[in-house]
Amino acid sequence: MTTFIVLLGPPGVGKGTQAEILARSTNLAHISSGDLFRENLKNQTDLGKLAKSYMDKGELVPDDVTIKMIRDRLKRDDCKSGAILDGFPRTPAQADALEKTLAEFSGQVDKVPYITAAEDILIERTGGRFTCRASGHIYHETFNPPVKVGVCDIDGSELYQRDDDKKETVTKRIRVYLEQTMPLVEYYRTRGKLVEINGDQAVEQVTQKLLAALKT
Ligand code: ADP
Ligand code: ADP
Repeated sequence: MTTFIVLLGPPGVGKGTQAEILARSTNLAHISSGDLFRENLKNQTDLGKLAKSYMDKGELVPDDVTIKMIRDRLKRDDCKSGAILDGFPRTPAQADALEKTLAEFSGQVDKVPYITAAEDILIERTGGRFTCRASGHIYHETFNPPVKVGVCDIDGSELYQRDDDKKETVTKRIRVYLEQTMPLVEYYRTRGKLVEINGDQAVEQVTQKLLAALKT
């Protein structure tokens, strides 16, 4: 038995925060496409350099390289019982590729929580987001501050603000999301997998709703 969960929702709605919590409580792997790109960038790989040129503009990295990166990640041992996918798929082509990849190891996407919030909330959340340099742990200067300013509670590494969390880039990313990722809402709804979750609640409340949705 495997369990694959896809977290769907606009930039800044709380996918990464919830994926981290769910991965801990379910023992499933947490796969964040954004984190994988940022890791490649930190290591100055060709993929990282290519991805940066799109990320800086708030555009999506092309499907072929993104799909290859996730396929490779899904083949690792820690995904044997499943994974929580955060930020992938983001296009119908990526969703088709995911379906094919999971079928290769007799898996499938089980549930797709679709987390929503109004645009002003997304702007407020991304505007105050701080990310940990070592492993991508997520904070917010007001809503989820670290114990010590600028330092990750979990691994003590430096916290930084992502270049693409500037307001102009976030506005662009929301537009790209509406154009390219919104079709996945219908894609998963018609397959009976979509569960809508109101993301405009405290972190703990969103987690409760998610856990309840995953049990059904
Ligand atoms: P957010 O936290 O706002 O959802 P991510 O960290 O998931 O942002 O993504 C940051 C950037 O990385 C995106 O704007 C895009 O350029 C790139 N990216 C991440 N996931 C994908 C994907 N599945 N397909 C294409 N590009 C992606
Ligand atoms: P995404 O992965 O969807 O882009 P994140 O999980 O990185 O979103 O969250 C974006 C920002 O909002 C982070 O600074 C995070 O600490 C904060 N955040 C996440 N969930 C909530 C929530 N329910 N209420 C308030 N702030 C939140």
